[in-house]
Amino acid sequence: KSPQNVGLIIGVTGIVGNSLGEILPVSDTPGGPWKVYGVARRPRPAWNADHPIEYVQCDVSDSKDTQSKISPLTDVTHIFWVTWANRPTEAECCEINGTMFQNVLDALLPNAPNLTHISIQTGLKHYIGPFESFGKIKPHETPFIEDTPRLDVPNFYYTLEDLALEACKKKQGLTWSVHRPAVIFGFSPHSLMNMVGTLGIYAAICKHENVPLTYPGTKAAWNCYSIASDADLIAEQEIWSSVDPNGKNEAFNCSNGDVFKWKHLWKILADKFEVEYEEFDENQEYVSLSDRMKDKGPVWDEIVKKNNLLPTKLEEVATFWFAELQFLGECMFDSMNKSKEHGFFGFRNSQNSFISVIDKMKAHKIVP
Ligand code: NDP
Repeated sequence: KSPQNVGLIIGVTGIVGNSLGEILPVSDTPGGPWKVYGVARRPRPAWNADHPIEYVQCDVSDSKDTQSKISPLTDVTHIFWVTWANRPTEAECCEINGTMFQNVLDALLPNAPNLTHISIQTGLKHYIGPFESFGKIKPHETPFIEDTPRLDVPNFYYTLEDLALEACKKKQGLTWSVHRPAVIFGFSPHSLMNMVGTLGIYAAICKHENVPLTYPGTKAAWNCYSIASDADLIAEQEIWSSVDPNGKNEAFNCSNGDVFKWKHLWKILADKFEVEYEEFDENQEYVSLSDRMKDKGPVWDEIVKKNNLLPTKLEEVATFWFAELQFLGECMFDSMNKSKEHGFFGFRNSQNSFISVIDKMKAHKIVP
């Protein structure tokens, strides 16, 4: 009898980590019943506390901390890598993200005899290049296809892939999978990039200040078709790869399988926060979302107090720089063919995904 599957989620309070922490322990999840460990640096937040997992507070960028907290987890069979660290340059991102991943591999490879699979989450920047190269290098032709060659620029996604492949060479029977989402629609107040969370906070601030919900972007991004990746869907694909032979030793794009337009979601956002909807106005001067929101920390504090929300700081929960990037130009598309051809048929309705994330943020009192 093969041993029970034991998942180790690195980044369990992140936008996909929190979904994995919710879905993996459910009894009919593929490969179940799973035992689950979840790792993050901060103490366990209330909104994550109901998941039946063992929470491990550890900083995986610190090799000593990782050795002492992760190497005792000798029953781990599957690693779910859903974390990252941001740095000013991509070279530094390669360094820090590589170190974090290597620390966890060093703690587990010699100590977890039943380790069978490593799933790593990267993203469409695999095909576009890192943030610092935006506008400077030519991205791959869309729709992005998994097996195109790498771009000739540093990218921490490539560093992670190389380390995973190397680990699999060292340990017989160990397999890997890479998951490449587009912009993620998911719930997590501890995420470095949260599109829906950020928009909800922007809408709440507009409402509080009694101003219309002005769209802070370009006409192209307002009107074009866009794609997104539901956090639960990504978790499902990562779990599928971990237990289905067709999902192993491959990279997969992971998006919802439909298209939407921001101008339609904008109306929903306005309705959800009961703020006045405003059409995109071509004559309006472009002011980035970060610039609009740069002094709103005290306003957010007031909103939190007035609505009895979970105490948060604006700079922690809102990632305006990330939202504004999505509103700059036309969306780039991936192809989901490879994922379907290999047997993963999951999909989401992006509009419903957008609504359910907002509802969840409200239910957990992150936004009013
Ligand atoms: P998040 O930023 O949402 O979550 C990060 C998680 O990792 C949190 O739980 C955080 O908790 C934890 N963490 C961070 N640093 C450490 C550390 N040193 N030790 C232990 N835990 C740590 O992650 P994402 O899911 O957004 O990112 C994963 C990958 O997905 C990245 O490569 C990203 O580029 C990619 N991606 C993300 C998209 C998005 O829309 N978010 C879109 C496309 C791709 P704590 O801070 O408490 O430690």
